[in-house]
Amino acid sequence: MKIGVLAIQGAISEHYSMIKKTFSELGINGEIILVKNKNDIKEIDGLIIPGGESTTISRLMFKTGIHEKVLERVENKDLSIMGTCAGSVLLAKKIKNQQNVKTLQLMDMEIERNAFGRQRESFEIDVDINGFDTPFHAVFIRAPIIRKTWGDCKPLSKINRDTIVAAHQDNLVALAFHPELTNDTRMHKYFLKIIKK
Ligand code: GLN
Repeated sequence: MKIGVLAIQGAISEHYSMIKKTFSELGINGEIILVKNKNDIKEIDGLIIPGGESTTISRLMFKTGIHEKVLERVENKDLSIMGTCAGSVLLAKKIKNQQNVKTLQLMDMEIERNAFGRQRESFEIDVDINGFDTPFHAVFIRAPIIRKTWGDCKPLSKINRDTIVAAHQDNLVALAFHPELTNDTRMHKYFLKIIKK
């Protein structure tokens, strides 16, 4: 199994380490690739789009042509993607109140950037994730909120009763928080499981 971490900007090394840890916990002899140009896309089974600054990641993803290769492979259903924080923004079909960030428009959801406001820019809480036996300690940093989902996109986690912070559609998963900033590999395991081989 080959997992790519989009290495444009953001929490790249943290995801790299988490995937490494996940491989070792599952006894998988996998490979991790730092995706820097469009040719790297054809090699991988799964792609992680890290958190960081969605405007920067978007600009460079479109400039390098990485977006085109990603879209081709997702259309063929042979590439799975996990987007965390800024990465989740890049997966959304719609961004609320904003036209200036181009996204891959893959998941049936509308997302709002920096949606927790200034007072709660960063916080950590335990969240329930569908299918997990115990809560997941989630780190939110200037996080987005998934305002709505439709079609095949389903909420995977909600906080404060109806605030969606994770969603799943086919072989794509979007998380408003940063699972790579904990020691808990369950989200990365979840991702490896949805990869179709
Ligand atoms: N607020 C950032 C954005 O929308 C995301 C922050 C993050 O990834 N930690 O680009």
